[in-house]
Amino acid sequence: MPIQPTAKIWHNGNLIPWDKAQIHVMSHVVHYGSSVFEGLRCYGQPSGAAVFRLPEHMQRLLDSAKIYRMPMAYSLDQLSTAVVEVIEANGIAPCYIRPIAFRGYGEIGVNPKHSPVDVYIANFPWGKYVPGDAADVCISSWNRSAPNTTPSLAKAGGNYLNSQLIRMEADVNGYVEGIALDVNGYLSEGSGENLFIVRNGVIYTTPLANSVLSGITRDSILTLARHFGMPVVEQAMPRELLYIADEVFFTGTAAEVTPIRSVDRITIADGNPGPITRQLADEFIGIANGLRPDRYGWLTPVNVNVEQPVSV
Ligand code: PMP
Repeated sequence: MPIQPTAKIWHNGNLIPWDKAQIHVMSHVVHYGSSVFEGLRCYGQPSGAAVFRLPEHMQRLLDSAKIYRMPMAYSLDQLSTAVVEVIEANGIAPCYIRPIAFRGYGEIGVNPKHSPVDVYIANFPWGKYVPGDAADVCISSWNRSAPNTTPSLAKAGGNYLNSQLIRMEADVNGYVEGIALDVNGYLSEGSGENLFIVRNGVIYTTPLANSVLSGITRDSILTLARHFGMPVVEQAMPRELLYIADEVFFTGTAAEVTPIRSVDRITIADGNPGPITRQLADEFIGIANGLRPDRYGWLTPVNVNVEQPVSV
């Protein structure tokens, strides 16, 4: 789906016109992938709109920058305020928000130290990421990056070269998404989603040691599962556990909670989203849309008129 332009983009403290948010072709990031970024969603509420887990996302942006020794001129509060500012300036909600920091125009060598850091925040309408009600996925022939190569806890542009290979391979083979194994052959994650398995009433997800991003939706689902008293285990898992699972689902800001119907053309249980997946997805979306109590303070309100407010 093509990006729908909005009026303004936040750039280093100022709101600039969408079309003016341009960089030079010799910018460091174009050649060496030196960016860190975030993806957030702003949800419609019964009255108004709210950003989901804003400080957690902006903290992860700062963490990603720190891992890459990228000095950030803006604090957590400043970045969080900037997200609200750009959404309110554009007056668009629900929306997806894409903050990005990168090494700009400076020197051509690999060392990024002498290329300035630029920060931009854009927002735009963006609906469903994984098409359909449930996903038919495959195991990718591409592994996730091994530890001690590119760090998976940093949400860095360069990591998405690996993700692109996973996603394209899935696509050409007729799947909507691929699941990568880690360097040791254990389950890791999707090209842009964390992975959950339910078996015999226990919820499993892959731990951070298996080359996954520390997903904020993953954390939200773990929190909700514990709230419901569901047993939760973070452990390394073999590929075949997927085939014999009762339920499998992805989590992510873009993907939200996406049930998985089949893996490698093997149907998961009866092929329908299972009860645990549905309960967690309903609670997650209910909180995001302001229809269920925001017990954890996950919502930051923004002052935007939503055309079709979520009905109670
Ligand atoms: N893994 C990868 C590789 C991702 O790109 C994403 C999306 N940011 C996720 C997991 C899910 O993370 P989150 O729930 O924070 O969006």
